[in-house]
Amino acid sequence: MSKNIVNIPWSKEEADDVYHISRWGDGYFDINDEGHLCVLPNQDENGPRIDIAEVLEEMKAQNIPFPIVVRFHDILRSQVKVINETFREVIKEANYNGQYKGVYPIKVNQMREVVEEIVDAGAPYDYGLEAGSKPELLSVLAFNDNLNALTVLNGYKDEDYLRLALLGNKLGRKVIVVIEKFSELHKLLKLSREMNVEPMIGLRAKMAVKGSGKWSDSGGEKAKFGLTIAEMLTAVQILKDEGSINSLKLFHFHIGSQVTDIRTIKEVMREGGRIFAKLSQLGAPLEYFDVGGGLGVDYDGSQSTNDSSVNYKLQDYASDIVYILKEICDAEKVPHPNIVSESGRAITARHSCVITNVIDKIETSFTDYETNKIPGEHTLVSNMRELFDTLDVENAQEIYNDALDTKKECLNAFRLGILKLEERASLETLFWKITKKITSLLPEMEFIPENLYDIEQGIAPQYLCNFSIFQSAPDLWAIGQLLPIVPITKLNIKPHNNGTLVDITCDSDGKITKFIDINETKNLLPLHELTPNEDYYIGLFMTGAYQDVMGDLHNMFGRLNEVHVFCDDEDPTDFYIEEVIKGSSCENVLSAMQYNPEAMAYTMKKNIDRQIASGKINPREGVKLVDFYEECLKSYTYLKN
Ligand SMILES: *Cc1c(COP(=O)(O)O)cnc(C)c1O
Repeated sequence: MSKNIVNIPWSKEEADDVYHISRWGDGYFDINDEGHLCVLPNQDENGPRIDIAEVLEEMKAQNIPFPIVVRFHDILRSQVKVINETFREVIKEANYNGQYKGVYPIKVNQMREVVEEIVDAGAPYDYGLEAGSKPELLSVLAFNDNLNALTVLNGYKDEDYLRLALLGNKLGRKVIVVIEKFSELHKLLKLSREMNVEPMIGLRAKMAVKGSGKWSDSGGEKAKFGLTIAEMLTAVQILKDEGSINSLKLFHFHIGSQVTDIRTIKEVMREGGRIFAKLSQLGAPLEYFDVGGGLGVDYDGSQSTNDSSVNYKLQDYASDIVYILKEICDAEKVPHPNIVSESGRAITARHSCVITNVIDKIETSFTDYETNKIPGEHTLVSNMRELFDTLDVENAQEIYNDALDTKKECLNAFRLGILKLEERASLETLFWKITKKITSLLPEMEFIPENLYDIEQGIAPQYLCNFSIFQSAPDLWAIGQLLPIVPITKLNIKPHNNGTLVDITCDSDGKITKFIDINETKNLLPLHELTPNEDYYIGLFMTGAYQDVMGDLHNMFGRLNEVHVFCDDEDPTDFYIEEVIKGSSCENVLSAMQYNPEAMAYTMKKNIDRQIASGKINPREGVKLVDFYEECLKSYTYLKN
């Protein structure tokens, strides 16, 4: 298709009005003079910056195929610092007597490199880890050996889990077992006597307050986890009776992830603070007040209580926790406990993104077919042409309704054998031309009639992207979570089209038709025209929390190639790639599904040999085909381009 592409220059501000980078980016992202998206690892416009397009060039030079996950480890480190410093500042300002002792819940992103980076950046703050299962505990025990950092254990626990926890206590580590279920308490006390070590015990309260947003089911009376007030009182009594009350160290709740409304935080703090204080008065020597997770991330930048947003900042979150707890403790005359939060999403969400190359643009409305009048053509075709010729701003709605009718009649006539294939092609092309012209007239209309509103969506091109939503952004598909999506380059050129994104899975759900906007969402994303021999890359941002580690193998598309990017301390405009992690090969994915790739290759070879023996394939070609099959088994699961 030859179409003259006109590039209209675009300012950074205009680009920001469309992609809202300054709203969701929290100071970590910016556009440079070349129109490339950049990372500012220190949230400082005058500080170091990494040009993401340069990172992609480097990938290409190293022959790393797309799609890729890019991790900015500087952002991860920065987030660890920011949360610790913020709580410290608020604590100081409030004259609060306890300390902040945060833990990172590794389920949010269990990648070894991510956990290592967080532990390293958190070392000056004695930042700890949280585990929710036996395999997570195995990893947490090995990865944080700071004796001053907490290790908090949630989730349902069997004997091995509890033994592992006590092993940690034996090593002098502050491993706290949070009792989620009453029976765990008896088991823990029994095993600790057996292993001759004093446990550290936490109690998880079932809160009446429910979280807000999509993840709110972790709270409320029907929550899966936690003890009722009656159970907590009984637990305290049991610990007293057994002479183990000094093991009771921590009070915990968790009302769900991504709490969107700050009022929920205030409410749960008032409930939790009182329970804590009353338990303390009963003689429970609680040293830690653990507010769980829930600190949200503003994915759409709207600063609202939308599911994908939050109406507060970290500063507000920390202030509410510290000040409310202080007020309650002072009123109830109990000492200020240390404060623990298990913030995972807020630490990791921003540090990674998925970058995919656009393979093609799929046009719904094909308008390149010849539509000139042919002698003797059916009147339906002539009618449609006349509608097209008379269309203007004034009559758009009327013409559109008539065109819809004519299109319907066309189909009837075709089914009856009255219309030729060429006539139907001509008529439908004219119909698409009408809709296209109407969309171009929409900006001139004072009032847009409702039926014209959806036309643009209907004919918008679909950009085919080399990735699987099910692997790389599962929440986008499963719960309609929004993620910011932005082209990596050309941000200094006005986008040519409004389009949607489709992935390469064979699933009609594999598409993105909702994009962030200030008030509501928008159905179409402004995107640029594709140019032959020029790559066009689109980034899905804020995929570092949950998305990274939850993706499934839909259509057997596997894990992505990954690069870990660091800012170069010597040169603030440079970066280096510390690590490249290969994504899944077809072989890996097949094995995960219980196939045996070696046996498969063997079967294929047998089949080819048989064809060679019968003379249908020549031996040289046969060897090549066998090699090709084996090579494909070892290759990346995504499209090569
Ligand atoms: C999932 C989970 C977290 C993490 O919550 P975020 O909202 O991601 O910070 C913390 N604590 C517990 C018990 C969890 O289950």
